[in-house]
Amino acid sequence: MNLLEELDTRIVCGDGAMGTLLLDRGVPVDRCLEELCVSEPTRISSIHQEYIAAGARVIETNTFGANAVRLSRFGFENRVVELNKAAAGIARKAARGKNVCVAGSVGPLGISAHEAEERGIDRAECFREQVVALIEGGVDIVFLETFMNLEEMEIALRAKPESDCIVVTLFACEPEGRLQAGVPLVDAFARCRELGAAIVGANCLNGPHAMVQLLEKLPAGDRLAAYPNAGYPRYTEGRYVYPTAPDYFANAARELVAQGARLIGGCCGTTPAHIDAVANAISDLRPIRSKSIRMVAEALRTPLRIERAPADSARPVNQTRIRERGPSRDQNRPARRQNV
Ligand SMILES: [Zn+2]
Repeated sequence: MNLLEELDTRIVCGDGAMGTLLLDRGVPVDRCLEELCVSEPTRISSIHQEYIAAGARVIETNTFGANAVRLSRFGFENRVVELNKAAAGIARKAARGKNVCVAGSVGPLGISAHEAEERGIDRAECFREQVVALIEGGVDIVFLETFMNLEEMEIALRAKPESDCIVVTLFACEPEGRLQAGVPLVDAFARCRELGAAIVGANCLNGPHAMVQLLEKLPAGDRLAAYPNAGYPRYTEGRYVYPTAPDYFANAARELVAQGARLIGGCCGTTPAHIDAVANAISDLRPIRSKSIRMVAEALRTPLRIERAPADSARPVNQTRIRERGPSRDQNRPARRQNV
């Protein structure tokens, strides 16, 4: 499967969540999910197989947090190579003979630049160690996802060794289209492309409707990916529940295509049922070549004034407001069907 060539002429379905699905299926919340690639490989393998059966043609390894910094929370900081290679092997085996690409999931390190400096952590080396292991494990794609700031994404992109792998960069971005520190998403995409990304886009943070709102502000024409959450979680009886039903999610997927997305999957809260619905909903759609953008491009380039938040200064001041507004919009507003 030549993913880039396919994305020029058709819409490709990715997979859904791994972490929230594992928790939903009874894995304790304090377990290291990435370690399951070694201790319970069949559990991971069967999830890959379910997503492939549902219609996913890009599957992600169970390695979102498999970097030394995040693994150190479990005392596994010396198992980066082992876990990433095991995860790549499980995904490759599940994909074998099925015209499915394997994407090596790489998340942010989960610490600020300041904390890295204080702890003497070489962030580039952390990313390099994980990405090298994934590439040696045989992934087709380096899938950098859920990054909230451009600086860390640039470190990861620069740390990545030369290879034939396709590079995907996905940001977790508010519907306004700005990253932390006010960086416009369109500018971040341009920077990622300069540093070798072939596919850019957004994942997590937003439910499907908010993701459509975000894409409305982006130009068409790029190889654009969108992996929304299944709505906004509610904490109920000791666990997070994601409310968006597969049908609603799939209708929104058609709107995402109308806004330029060509690779569509799901993030937190999505399941094989969501991906099955998406794969069916987008099967007759083709990539759009142009569209009108809701917000004038120049307006997006005007620096946003960010006030200092009291406790977590890296967090945009408007985040809480958007999060609170989100669930009702995503739950109650019917998705318009758009044909392209
Ligand atoms: Zn997510």
